[in-house]
Amino acid sequence: MNIRILGYSGGYPGAGVPTSGYLISFERKNILVDCGSGVLAELQKTTPIECLDAIILSHMHQDHISDFSVLRYALDMKSKRGDPINPIPIFAPQSPRGIFDEIAGDTNISVSVIDSSSCLHIAGATITFHPTSHSVECYGIRVEHSGSVFSYSSDSSYDPSLFGFLSDSNLSILDCGGLSADVEKDKKHMTPADCFSLHNEFGIKRVVLSHLIPYHSVSETISEAEACGPWPFEIAEMGKVYIVL
Ligand SMILES: [Zn+2]
Repeated sequence: MNIRILGYSGGYPGAGVPTSGYLISFERKNILVDCGSGVLAELQKTTPIECLDAIILSHMHQDHISDFSVLRYALDMKSKRGDPINPIPIFAPQSPRGIFDEIAGDTNISVSVIDSSSCLHIAGATITFHPTSHSVECYGIRVEHSGSVFSYSSDSSYDPSLFGFLSDSNLSILDCGGLSADVEKDKKHMTPADCFSLHNEFGIKRVVLSHLIPYHSVSETISEAEACGPWPFEIAEMGKVYIVL
């Protein structure tokens, strides 16, 4: 199982850095997780839209879905010029209802609701969904394939009681949109110290800190992470492919 970073900015894109998007690939299947601003351009460097086997939207904030509207527009354009369109399966939370209803009416895609009981089986992988603590309905994702585990926190404040799904992950991509100085102002995202605690508590083997807000300096994120002690964290990098073993 490979994970490619297509975007890791939180809130809004940084220079050359799209907002959230991750491509999971295994057994010749490609699953796009989140589709933020700039992700479509980054995706197509390696993977045509037609080669997507599913899209998972963790939640309906614009920094996770804004290019999903652009992707739908691309499918509409291709359909109107007569290109064959196989509706891409989309998995998304049902709220906010207005956004869900709008995408559910698109005939170029096939939309299914996700909730905490959802479980997908795709080409030998099992994908489960876990509610996080965020300002809208939001799900973290756990993917198990060939004995390896990839997990993605999506957006969340720090609440270890919600994060059992990270247990024994070979690789976790965690929301690290906060710095310690922000904690009182923004309780919707985690800090490097929060991510370190999750790593310790749930035995995560390798952690990628992502959803980095462009107005924060990456060096501050790194120094707060390093201050926690030695642990296997990395800062997300554009285009980097992580092999999950
Ligand atoms: Zn969010």
